[in-house]
Amino acid sequence: MGSKNRSTDYKITLFAGLFQGLRTAYGTYCPETGKHRQVKQMVKKTTLYRHLKGIEPFGFYPLVGNATRIGVVDFDNHDPEHPLGFIIRAHHFGLASYLEKSKSKGYHAWIFFSKAGVPAKKVRLVIQYILDEIDCSETEIFPKQNRIVNKNSYGNFINAPLFGKFVPQGRTVFIRPDATLKPYPDQWDVLESIQRIHENQLDTIIDINQLERERVKEKINSSNNRFSRFGLPICIQRILVEGVSFEQRVACFRIAVHLKRIGLPYDVAVAALYQWSKRNRPIDGKRLITFHEIEEQTKWAFKNSYNGYGCQEPVIRSFCDSICPVRNQRF
Ligand code: SF4
Repeated sequence: MGSKNRSTDYKITLFAGLFQGLRTAYGTYCPETGKHRQVKQMVKKTTLYRHLKGIEPFGFYPLVGNATRIGVVDFDNHDPEHPLGFIIRAHHFGLASYLEKSKSKGYHAWIFFSKAGVPAKKVRLVIQYILDEIDCSETEIFPKQNRIVNKNSYGNFINAPLFGKFVPQGRTVFIRPDATLKPYPDQWDVLESIQRIHENQLDTIIDINQLERERVKEKINSSNNRFSRFGLPICIQRILVEGVSFEQRVACFRIAVHLKRIGLPYDVAVAALYQWSKRNRPIDGKRLITFHEIEEQTKWAFKNSYNGYGCQEPVIRSFCDSICPVRNQRF
């Protein structure tokens, strides 16, 4: 992974300084099955050592309150055209970004920010703008939220690069952003030369391109349409796509209320919720919500007339977005 004589301690310190977020919990996955889980323990040096040695993968929660030290775009596809396009476009805005070959398929484009962290809202706004420019609007961005809203939510973790077991296979390594896509021969050279972006650079991009104004326009449009996609509020759209990690029954009930409101028959709603349940990643060793439980929650939702959006529920609120017209009326 590197030819220079660097001590293990030095490498762990360098790695910890770059791939850092919440200290009180982290994520991991089974290298064989890819199954994710959360570990509610402090991130220690040994956690990172085990990752770099290929014993247990380490993923970190980038959001600490509303701040993040990284922004990552997850290109979930073998085709390098879009990731390379992103790197070039980001460079145009003065944003150094680094391409990693992910563990299974696709690529991650990493941008690193000041050690003190920068507002995730600005990071997401700028990255989304670049993705819109290269016609990749739907590509996933980490952090996935603008902020952590309560102590029960952590956001989503991102797998750190350089998992020791995969490195010799050319996976989870930083690669050249050119036609060769070859891994850099010394990954530690890459980490040592990472450029960090400061908040004022994001502010300049946001000001020059009037991104806040564009955002306001979007808000007005979405207010006019009430809810843009399928008549569902943004929190429910996101929950359906991303799944939840806690309060599965509450989330199921709230989704069912919305599915009833937009006119889905009971059976179709149950089938949709069953498909959705497979995206959930329950934490604390909890199991997935069962088909029977889904039926129960859906029955309750369809039996009575519920008008509330469930904005006060922690699981719903953790997917809230300021563009929602309901939020603008409530908060
Ligand atoms: S305001 Fe309520 S309905 Fe709108 S996104 Fe937030 S939680 Fe959902």
